[in-house]
Amino acid sequence: MEVVRERESDISAYIDNREYVSNKYAMKCFSVTMLIYATAFILNIFNVFIIEDNLILKGFIPSLIIYLLVCLSLRRMSLSDRKTKYFILLTTIVVYTIMGMTITYHVVLAHILPLLCGTLYSSKKIMYYAYSLTVVSTVVIVFGGYYFGLCDANMALLTADSLRNYIVDGSFVLTKVNPNPLLTLTLYFVIPRCLIYVAFVSVCNSIVDIMSGSLEKAKLTEELEKAKEEAENANKAKSQFLAKMSHEIRTPVNAVIGMNEMILYESNEENIKEYARDVKHSSTTLLTIINEILDSSKIESGMMEIVPVEYEVGNMLSDLYNMVFIRAKEKNLELLFDIDPEIPRAYLGDDKRIRQILINLLTNAIKYTNKGKVTLKVKCIIDKDEAIVQYYVRDTGIGIKEEDIENIYDVFKRVDMSRNRNIEGTGLGINICQQLLELMGSELYIKSEYEVGSEFSFAVVQKIVDQRPLGDFSKLLQMDDDAKAYRMSFIAPRARVLVVDDNKMNLKVFKNLLKQTQMQVSEAESGKECIEMLKKNEFDIIFLDHMMPGMDGIETLHTIKLYDLCKNVPVIMLTANAIVGNREKYISEGFDDFISKPIILDKLEQIFLKYLPEGLIMQNENIEYIEIESKLPNIEGFDFDYALEVLGDEELLKSLLFDFYEFTIEMEAKLPKLLQTIEQEESLNTYRIDVHSLKSNAATVGALQLSETARTSEFAAKDKDIEKIKQLHSNLMREMNEHKLRIEAILPKNEEEKSYDYKMEYFDMLASALDKEDYDRMDYMSEEIKKYTYPSEADALVKELGTQVFNLETQEAMLTIDKIKKALGEIK
Ligand code: ADP
Repeated sequence: MEVVRERESDISAYIDNREYVSNKYAMKCFSVTMLIYATAFILNIFNVFIIEDNLILKGFIPSLIIYLLVCLSLRRMSLSDRKTKYFILLTTIVVYTIMGMTITYHVVLAHILPLLCGTLYSSKKIMYYAYSLTVVSTVVIVFGGYYFGLCDANMALLTADSLRNYIVDGSFVLTKVNPNPLLTLTLYFVIPRCLIYVAFVSVCNSIVDIMSGSLEKAKLTEELEKAKEEAENANKAKSQFLAKMSHEIRTPVNAVIGMNEMILYESNEENIKEYARDVKHSSTTLLTIINEILDSSKIESGMMEIVPVEYEVGNMLSDLYNMVFIRAKEKNLELLFDIDPEIPRAYLGDDKRIRQILINLLTNAIKYTNKGKVTLKVKCIIDKDEAIVQYYVRDTGIGIKEEDIENIYDVFKRVDMSRNRNIEGTGLGINICQQLLELMGSELYIKSEYEVGSEFSFAVVQKIVDQRPLGDFSKLLQMDDDAKAYRMSFIAPRARVLVVDDNKMNLKVFKNLLKQTQMQVSEAESGKECIEMLKKNEFDIIFLDHMMPGMDGIETLHTIKLYDLCKNVPVIMLTANAIVGNREKYISEGFDDFISKPIILDKLEQIFLKYLPEGLIMQNENIEYIEIESKLPNIEGFDFDYALEVLGDEELLKSLLFDFYEFTIEMEAKLPKLLQTIEQEESLNTYRIDVHSLKSNAATVGALQLSETARTSEFAAKDKDIEKIKQLHSNLMREMNEHKLRIEAILPKNEEEKSYDYKMEYFDMLASALDKEDYDRMDYMSEEIKKYTYPSEADALVKELGTQVFNLETQEAMLTIDKIKKALGEIK
């Protein structure tokens, strides 16, 4: 690649130089000629030459105009462009023909050859040579001839006055005015002419030389271009091969990791667990290596995109802290996050990539440090609504030798191998960081002192979204821990909530989040259904999803308002597009507020507290804090802790994972079909809505990377950038497939058959107990029912039923039993 780049610059320098030289010389020759012409013109005015005024005027004026035109075009146009070249040649010939007719062919000869040569095949030396010779000769001939009385056709023209002196009896007699005509003739006529011919011949030769030379150059250029193309193709093939290979390797490695997690999860034998831990360590390292290769080839093949979103820097940093803290602790290193409390809270930028870079740098710092501490320092310079956020990762580690520093930017380059051979790594990390930073318009700086420590730093310009200062980061870390156990602080059993979303997984999550508040939640899956429900029922608050097929959220709200279906009922927009400026947009469309997905519980709580009528809300005395530490096996690509933070319920997450699995199967069939007709507006729109759902569902189950990938496609679809959609499609499908396979590895294969061991008759027994208000039996049946497993649609309802029985909501419980029976296919 390096060689190709060098050659490329050679070619362009050659072209630039060639253009520069030819432009410059053509201009010079032209200008000198015009000067001579102008001098002749002026001398003629003073009657030094006797040329007919009219004739010289006729020649001079058009030549001057053409000269100015050519000067202009030479400045503006590129001579490497064929058309321009021909234009200049043509005008040159026209100007010189005019000049030739009006002055003398010497002038023409003196300038036309170097100029032609200059325009076509610039060569400084030859031009200079030809030009000097012809000019000197011309001057000698013209003026020497004039003063020494030589006879020449031009002389006849130029020296009409002295010409008469040479004519004796009607013919030229040189001896009359010149005592030694032979010498004079030789000196002032033959030699200069010869010089002109020499110049002429040399120019011709040079043209031949230069032509063959330029042919060679052209051949060379062609070869270089071919070599460049070949190298690029080879590089592309390499990237594709690596991407494919990494994918092929990742799939079985993920299966190994998944299965191994199951062993760790289920086995009680310590020695088996010990083996499994070793397998886990090695396979995770292997996966990191493969991921780095994949990332690197993604960057090289231009598949890596920077997607700016709103993010809170505090969240990003505390996630980061949690990720690297254990590693530092394992090595007995102090980990210090020195974050300036004054930095603004939220920005617009690609936090995922910044996080990736920081993880890389921090893990390196820990990897290459044996004692002391690793520090992340963050500060920022604010410039109006933008911030230059500066990150410094410092360590007291082994350091890098000065001569090695520039090498570590290179791909696969690991330095100081004798010392580092036992440290795992690929030599890709720093290169990836550097390339990601380049994509963000920044770069990585490295300072290091051997045996003392290193500092890796970079700065990124981010738009500020929330100006408020971040505050004390250590407090933020503690709060982060508390937030995990967060539950809503109120109940509102009489509140009627309508939630409208085409995405079933979202509905499930939403309902589940509200479970503890005991609100009455109704669902609609489309704008149309929402309107129908509003016609028949009343609600206290409505949540309306933005992007839905058919009627979207905004259109639905407009219709609701048009028919006056929700007087004074707050309508909240549910959106996955938390982009700056959207809030104003939604409010101007008539929404009361908006909440972004994935829904954060405390934000949702604030919405309820703000918009629900006060009488409906009761403070919950005994808030149940749930331990949400995930017991699910760790699988690559899924951040279950993140998912649980939002969902707060492992059972729900499991059931959503299953739903997501089915969703990916559906998408695998649907998206490629849509891609075939993506040029059609309708397909493009459906594709956009589908990848939007994929983005949101993936985030719900913690598949954050996949969610990112889907978002990139969604952006492309939004921009109607069909080429890009096509480009991203295969990668999206591949990632989705990988995630599907990973879920498959942890979900029992025949879950459907295996788990649905419920007893239908128990529901009738419970219904009868409810009917007879037999409380003991009600509780007993309710507990029994809970022991069994149900398909996901019924599962949530069974949980709801449990709460209703507990709260003695007989009517509601009866309705729920009906719903459960329906879900289980008992009644149609
Ligand atoms: P690797 O996978 O080998 O860590 P990187 O690209 O991340 O690859 O780093 C390249 C090389 O730079 C490493 O092999 C190591 O020699 C050196 N290096 C990176 N970070 C540090 C650090 N914090 N201290 C000392 N050496 C480092």
